[in-house]
Amino acid sequence: MIFYEMNDGVVWNIFCIFVVMKYDVIDRLRKERSLVDAELRELLLSADSELIDELKRQAREVAIEQFGREIKARGLIEVSNYCKNNCLYCGIRAGNKKVERYRLSKEEILECCEQGDALGFKTFVLQGGEDVRHTTEWVEDVVSEIRRRWPDKAITLSLGERTDEDYERWFAAGADRYLLRHETANACHYAQLHPEGMSFENRVRCLRTLKRIGYETGTGMMVGSPGQTVDDLIADLRFMEQLQPQMIGIGPFVSHRDTPFADCANGSVETTLRLIAILRLMHPEANIPATTSLGTLAGNGRELGIMAGANVLMPNLSPVKDRKKYALYDNKICMDLEAAESRALLEEQMRSIGYFLS
Ligand code: SAH
Repeated sequence: MIFYEMNDGVVWNIFCIFVVMKYDVIDRLRKERSLVDAELRELLLSADSELIDELKRQAREVAIEQFGREIKARGLIEVSNYCKNNCLYCGIRAGNKKVERYRLSKEEILECCEQGDALGFKTFVLQGGEDVRHTTEWVEDVVSEIRRRWPDKAITLSLGERTDEDYERWFAAGADRYLLRHETANACHYAQLHPEGMSFENRVRCLRTLKRIGYETGTGMMVGSPGQTVDDLIADLRFMEQLQPQMIGIGPFVSHRDTPFADCANGSVETTLRLIAILRLMHPEANIPATTSLGTLAGNGRELGIMAGANVLMPNLSPVKDRKKYALYDNKICMDLEAAESRALLEEQMRSIGYFLS
C-alpha cells in the first residue's frame, strides 16, 4: 500500500515537472517578451491544444493586468474608397472597375464625428484609400476642425503612404495617431502583394517618420496572405520587436472576388488568435484590436480575439449608404448596421464574455 502511494507520488511529481516544462516557453515569453525563432515556430504550429490554451490564457491575463476588463472602442470613419494604389489583395484597388467610388465631404465626416461623440466614442479613426483628392491642405483642414470641435478626442489617421511634410502638417493640425500596417516584413513577399512602385522600404520609411514626428503609431500584417510562410510571420514579429509600435492591428487575409487573389484561400482564424496572444505577451502595453476581418471569418471572431489578449474594437461610424462600397474583402460584417446598433451589439457581446466597452 505504502509502496503504491509512494509510486503515485513519484508519478504525480514527474507529471507536474512535465507540465511546468511544457509551459516554460510561455512563461519565458511573458517574462522576457521574446523567444528564439524555433520557439515562436513551435507556438505557431503546435497541435497541443493545452499549450495553446495556456498561451491565450496568459495573454488574456496580461491584457487584464494592463487594461482591466475595459475594451476600448474606436469609431471608424471610412472617408474614401478612391485609391491610386493597386494592392493585389484589396477590394478597393485602383484596378477594380466594379467598385462604385465615393468620398465623404468634410461635412459628412463631421456628422459621423457628431454621431460618434453622442455614442460616447473618445477616438475617431479616419481611414481611406490613397485618394489623390485628399490633398495636404484638405486633410489638414478636416483634422483642424475635428480638433477645434472636440479638443479631448484622439484623432487617428489611416490614409496610407504620404510625404514627411503631410505627416508633419497633419500632426501639427491635431492628429495624434497613425495606422499603417507593414503588411509583411519580408521585402520579397511584400513585392508579391503589391504592384511595382510600392516597396517595403518605403513603408518602413513612412513608419519611422511617423514615430519620429511623435504619432502613436500602429502597424501590423495580414495573416495568411497569399505566399506567406511561417518564417514570414516570425519576420513580422521581429520587425515589430524593433519598431515597438503603440498599436498592432492584425487580421486574417480574406479574399475579394474582384482582385487577382480571388481564388486564394483565406487566412487562418486560429493562427491569427495565436499571433494576437504572442503579440500581447511581447508588447504588454500595445493597443491590439480584435479586427473586423477576424469577425468576418468566424461569427465569434472578435470575442475570440479579446479572449486571446486583444483590447480594442473598431465599430463602424461611416454612413450606411457608403458602407458596402468600402469592401476591402468579401462578406465584410456590419454593413447594414447603424453606428448605434453596431456599438450596442458589441457592448452586448463584450458583456457576454465579462468585459465592457468604453
Ligand atoms: N490605405 C490605407 C488603409 C488600407 S485598408 C493604408 O494603406 O494603410 C486597412 C487594412 O486593411 C490594410 O492595411 C490591410 O492590411 C487590410 N486589408 C486590405 N485588404 C484586405 C483583405 N483582402 N483581407 C484582409 N485584410 C485586408
